[in-house]
Amino acid sequence: APVIVAIDGPSGTGKSSTSKAVAAELGLSYLDTGAQYRAITWWMLSNGIDVEDPAAVAAAAGKPMIVSGTDPALPTISVDGEDASGPIRTQEVTAAVSAVSAVAEVRARITGLQRSIAAEAAEGGPSAEGKGRGIVVEGRDIGSTVLPDADLKIFLTASPEARAARRSGELRGKEGADLAATQAALLKRDTADSSRKTSPLKKADDAVEVDTTELTLEQVVECVVTLVKE
Ligand code: C5P
Repeated sequence: APVIVAIDGPSGTGKSSTSKAVAAELGLSYLDTGAQYRAITWWMLSNGIDVEDPAAVAAAAGKPMIVSGTDPALPTISVDGEDASGPIRTQEVTAAVSAVSAVAEVRARITGLQRSIAAEAAEGGPSAEGKGRGIVVEGRDIGSTVLPDADLKIFLTASPEARAARRSGELRGKEGADLAATQAALLKRDTADSSRKTSPLKKADDAVEVDTTELTLEQVVECVVTLVKE
């Protein structure tokens, strides 16, 4: 039977690394929903849309074509046919994404994409390489809102210090972000994501919470893989 795994939690808890590794180990597809919100945000910024104006964002929400590649070994994202993997990770996009993703029309659009990608991954028969059917979907509201019938829901947490340390480790060299600035930006984004009206960052009632503060990536992956197999 196909398996749908939802992995939610705030930034810096190891969601992406964990989700990709779990999908690879189980032969499942993988969807990074944060990349989709980043992609629509990048398109808005590139097209001169005022991202602080919810009406302008809502009016443009249907315009860009966003396509996600779901191979956990090489996840891709394109906007209107153009590879957006690099540009969606800039500080400019990171600073604007919470405002864009709080707009109901944006969430409706992106949630629709997510549900059809998950349905396709669950329905497509096992591929020639013996891949399993199903998908690991990572985000903020996957278990609570997007895929409430997921077979397994994981909610990852970690201390604010651990989250900032991981994030600045990822950014080091790239943007030269220091720990304090990273922690402040992270908390600001989490507060915005948790307090928005439309499907906020939230642990689903039936999600398994895993605190990753003291765990290695390998330990978290093993924990999730064991839960999937149960
Ligand atoms: O996971 P990542 O940090 O790339 O997500 C970027 C932003 O996208 C989040 O801060 C949040 O505003 C938005 N997001 C969301 N719902 C999701 C995934 C991401 O609102 N399911």
